Amino acid sequence: MIQRTMNRRTFLHHTAVAAAATTLPRSAHAADSPLSGHHIDRVDFRTVSVPWPRQVGRNSSKGIHGNGPDKLRVSVLHTDQGATGWGQTQGNSGKAEQLLELVQGKSVAELIDPATGIRSEKYHAIDVPLHDLAGVILDRPVWAMTGVKMPYLTKVYSGMIYFDDLDPEEQPAGIDKVLENCRWDYDYGYRQFKVKIGRGNKWMSAKAGLERDIDVVNAIHKAFPDVDILVDGNNGFTVDTMIDFLKGIADVPLFWIEEPFHETVADWTRLKDFLVANGREKTLRADGEAQPDFPVLEELQKDHTLNVRLEDICGHGFTRWRRQMPRLTKDGIGVSPHTWGTALKSVYSAHFVGAYGNAPTVEGVTTQGGDIDFGENKIIDAQFHPSNQPGFGLSLPPLS
Ligand SMILES: [Mg+2]
Repeated sequence: MIQRTMNRRTFLHHTAVAAAATTLPRSAHAADSPLSGHHIDRVDFRTVSVPWPRQVGRNSSKGIHGNGPDKLRVSVLHTDQGATGWGQTQGNSGKAEQLLELVQGKSVAELIDPATGIRSEKYHAIDVPLHDLAGVILDRPVWAMTGVKMPYLTKVYSGMIYFDDLDPEEQPAGIDKVLENCRWDYDYGYRQFKVKIGRGNKWMSAKAGLERDIDVVNAIHKAFPDVDILVDGNNGFTVDTMIDFLKGIADVPLFWIEEPFHETVADWTRLKDFLVANGREKTLRADGEAQPDFPVLEELQKDHTLNVRLEDICGHGFTRWRRQMPRLTKDGIGVSPHTWGTALKSVYSAHFVGAYGNAPTVEGVTTQGGDIDFGENKIIDAQFHPSNQPGFGLSLPPLS
């Protein structure tokens, strides 16, 4: 396959539908859409490399995370008109043949409505590649599919500040290592850091772990006073140990608290009451990433005890996210889809947020040295800018 950008330009140059696409009304019937003129005739899988810039260590529940995906499987959808779209495939989508069986011969308009997303849950596995493909055919970025003229821009945080003080095990590097990683992320352009906490859950004694969490956050704030700090407990706290942690960082403003414990109405209510009573009413309260308990989340949102939802951009689903946005926006609940793992997911999330807004920040997963061209998707002035190119604006490397 030739490089995506070339492919796209060649394709657009030779088709008249591209010009019509830019004026397509949102409510257009599928039959009138340029998408109905394209039928899927091939599905490929490829592996791509999206490594992290450094080894990422432990969090409150998991061991060393490693150096990032170097053989990430993505799927590439081809149409009979020469258009291609690609992206991460969600879940166990089976072999290419099975996937092809599901979509072969179908028009792109039968598979996805640009205004709302995939037309059936059957296509959940290729939700992201279908959005990319629709964007390529319509000659518009994914963020523009809702009809917005400019993407909503928002802050972006580095989600890569783990327990790097604890390794290597035989000679732990200490807090300086965490600060060194923060410096790298700062120089890269981040002005928000999400700091993993909860060392006392598994890796240190409860007391020593809590003290270290407190020392790390205080040290980061002192070294980077202009950076917003978010903390993520990966459910490694109780409501009492979380309150003890907050007492230990009393002088540090907190942008948000994520998953201190698995969500219950009683615990989050108590924590929120503590925050409000201690001048932290503006600290955002985020949950819904790990095994979300949807009835509890809904209950907690009613009075904004929780005010940011975090489900994964791919695991939950790009389209499911789109469908829940009108209600979340109406209810004043912010969103910031989980993207951890790959920098591709940060781009998907930035396009999603670009389309709908209502997001306090985007989770940034940094990559360096891989083989994807991220094009115009980048951090500028501490905000994540989604590309203005068709689809997600991400290009696969040429096939050698
Ligand atoms: Mg998390």
